[in-house]
Amino acid sequence: MCWIDFKEGKTKMVANEKVLADIVQKVLHAVDAHRNCTAGDGSALPEGVFSNMEKAIAASAVAQREYMKCSLSDRKRFIDAIRKKVLIEANIEKMSEMAVEETGMGNFEHKCIKNRLAANKTPGLEDLLTEAYTGDDGLTLLEYSPFGVIGAITPTTNPSETIICNAIGMLAGGNSVVFSTHPRANHTSQFTVGLINEALREADAPPNLITTIAKPTMEEAGVLIKHPDVQMLVATGGPGVVRAVLTSGKKAIGAGAGNPPVLVDETADIEKAAKDIIDGCSLDNNLPCTCEKEVVAVDSIADYLVFNMKKSGGMEVDQATVDALQALVFTDKGRPNPEYIGKSAKYLLQKVGVTAEPGTRVIIFEAKSNHPFVTEEMMMPILPIVRVPDADAGIELCIRLENGCRHTAIMHSKNVDKLTKMAKLIQTTIFVKNGPSYAGIGVGGEGYATFTIAGPTGEGLTSAKTFCRRRRCVLVGGFEIK
Ligand code: NAD
Repeated sequence: MCWIDFKEGKTKMVANEKVLADIVQKVLHAVDAHRNCTAGDGSALPEGVFSNMEKAIAASAVAQREYMKCSLSDRKRFIDAIRKKVLIEANIEKMSEMAVEETGMGNFEHKCIKNRLAANKTPGLEDLLTEAYTGDDGLTLLEYSPFGVIGAITPTTNPSETIICNAIGMLAGGNSVVFSTHPRANHTSQFTVGLINEALREADAPPNLITTIAKPTMEEAGVLIKHPDVQMLVATGGPGVVRAVLTSGKKAIGAGAGNPPVLVDETADIEKAAKDIIDGCSLDNNLPCTCEKEVVAVDSIADYLVFNMKKSGGMEVDQATVDALQALVFTDKGRPNPEYIGKSAKYLLQKVGVTAEPGTRVIIFEAKSNHPFVTEEMMMPILPIVRVPDADAGIELCIRLENGCRHTAIMHSKNVDKLTKMAKLIQTTIFVKNGPSYAGIGVGGEGYATFTIAGPTGEGLTSAKTFCRRRRCVLVGGFEIK
């Protein structure tokens, strides 16, 4: 075999097929990037962004087959490259800034924290632990193998975070991914996909391991859901999209809505509970599905809890303000108006003609348990407080308010029996004791992070192994050394 040394202008003989393969790979990569660089209207598209879903899926299927030829150390190198690229401070800031600007939701500093969290604490290949059985009949391995091409549908609320987290986990599992992103977070999502592809290209990965499309629509999401070359679907979003993937006839993971209640009983450290609740509730203006959405407080400590919440950035408002907010932020159908989702407490108050006190992070008020602010998942820093006579009544109410989402609940208490009772009965995927809700996704709590929490389908906090098939490999009559 021969290749030309352009620097020296000579033709050299080499006997190394790997060198040749690498060159072909790079040329293919460049051709592919060039072919894919316009949206049809001539504007440049980030790497991995295609003009339609069929093309994005076709490229992903080729990429996955190529990926299967890579070694595990290649895979690890690709994942490390993604983390490194995302964690460049300018990139973290760009994704966070774009998301706030494009969606009109959330808070720049908190989005930076969430993006860093996704890059740092989403598990990689270390998640794929092999199980082995040995005995007189030999050795059997249970391994985590890729599904193939995964269709991942991502939300507005954590657009870049979900793409980073899903890309790391799904690629660590040996899959390629086609993202169907939310139209209202399109540019942020495309930028993130482009950034990850840039990292993959620089690490010499096969092209198009992650792809998406220039103009996401419901129709294109439907193409992804039905496509025969897509082997697994992962939906992170509200009830509609979870239903859509679960009725697809394919292996599907549904990470759906929640309405996390936080219960505070009379044994809790009330000062700490108050601060934890405000800190958790105000994260990214209450956008994360895990955030505290309503407080259930035992009557005997409720006043002191409110007093301390006010010291930590809660602003208590009167009934007239609550009514005005209700009129503002609900649609005619009684659903939260997307225009106000993820807006700051200061902004919401200003909209109803109330000046926020300095340092206000969360709007608080007492409410009846059937108030729409209590029963609806608002994703706004509006936090109603419902009184109950005792912890048992509180547990019962929290179960009702969580409404079978199996998502997240929080409890502040020193009574181990009541903590255990609530944890057992509420059956949420995440149950945080004596901390802010975000401890449940690895911020100030032990454990890894994810932005795809699969309550409805039961996989829980997803990670690389969630996106894999279990396969058995049997060697008969050997390799047993007990
Ligand atoms: P959404 O349901 O409006 O959109 C999510 C994604 O699904 C978007 O890409 C959207 O285009 C797509 N989609 C919606 N309906 C669809 C359908 N019928 N067919 C195909 N695609 C469809 O949600 P959102 O407003 O972007 O995000 C907020 C919701 O997501 C909240 O309910 C929140 O609790 C939930 N969420 C859950 C998790 C979790 O891990 N469980 C994480 C983030 C957000």
